[in-house]
Amino acid sequence: MSTNLPRPGQVKQVTSFSNPLVKDIKALIAQRKHRQKSGRFVAEGLKLATDALAAGWEVDMLVLGPEARDSAPAREVAATARARGATILEVSTAVLAAMTRRDNPQMVVGVYGQRLLSASALEKAFAAAPQGVWVALDQVRDPGNLGTIIRTADAVGASGVILVGDTTDPFAVEAVRATMGSLFHVPLARQTREGFREIAARWPGTVVGTHLKGSSDYRTIDYRRPSLLLMGNEQSGLPQEMAEACSALARIPQAGQADSLNLAVATAVMLYEIRRGDLSLT
Ligand code: SAM
Repeated sequence: MSTNLPRPGQVKQVTSFSNPLVKDIKALIAQRKHRQKSGRFVAEGLKLATDALAAGWEVDMLVLGPEARDSAPAREVAATARARGATILEVSTAVLAAMTRRDNPQMVVGVYGQRLLSASALEKAFAAAPQGVWVALDQVRDPGNLGTIIRTADAVGASGVILVGDTTDPFAVEAVRATMGSLFHVPLARQTREGFREIAARWPGTVVGTHLKGSSDYRTIDYRRPSLLLMGNEQSGLPQEMAEACSALARIPQAGQADSLNLAVATAVMLYEIRRGDLSLT
């Protein structure tokens, strides 16, 4: 009788800095090209490993430092990962530090399969959440901002984040770190600017762009569902052709000398306003 269970992964002791698996992980951390080509990425920490496994993400490798081998929760995560076919690498702190280029590396480092919704899966996700709130990010450059926005989208229960145009890689290690595990819970998709404008043109609810010259105070807009929130690039904001794709342009009032709010902060302000009536402490 055949079963669909994966074969348990191997356990390997790695002491050499030039081991090919160590080099592979280093390249996944340092090179977007390598991440794209292999469809994998690195996430550091036991919490992220726990989140990834609980959410059913594909785990390719789990690297354990000496402390992890003495930790019951880490051993449990490693056993689950191994049962799902992951290779377990047992390494020294020095190898872990070199691999992650950190003086104080996390005791667990994981390599996972990337997940992005295809165009048809995105359409299905729209249809499945008629009351949903989606965030779209136009050409966002800073991985820390992107990770923070994914974390905030998770916190408010948004349906997903659409990365428009040349938006930075959500699987870069700095972005993953900033998500604090939310990467494993928030659906992500990529779209061209043209693709976004097509989605916006047939969007059944409000498409709200944020703009420093927006004519509407963000607290006065009727956010009809599903709502689609479009945020601009850190330096240049939203270009005209993207602003024109929106049914409303919101501005968050400011009082002091700051030119603008940080992108992730502005996204949080907007998301909490859009979700104002939905979130409570009970
Ligand atoms: N120099 C840019 C500009 O002229 O738009 C500043 C961009 S700002 C740092 C990055 C993004 O955050 C903006 O594109 C917008 O989406 C959002 N944002 C920041 N402050 C905002 C405000 N007061 N009102 C509306 N959106 C804001």
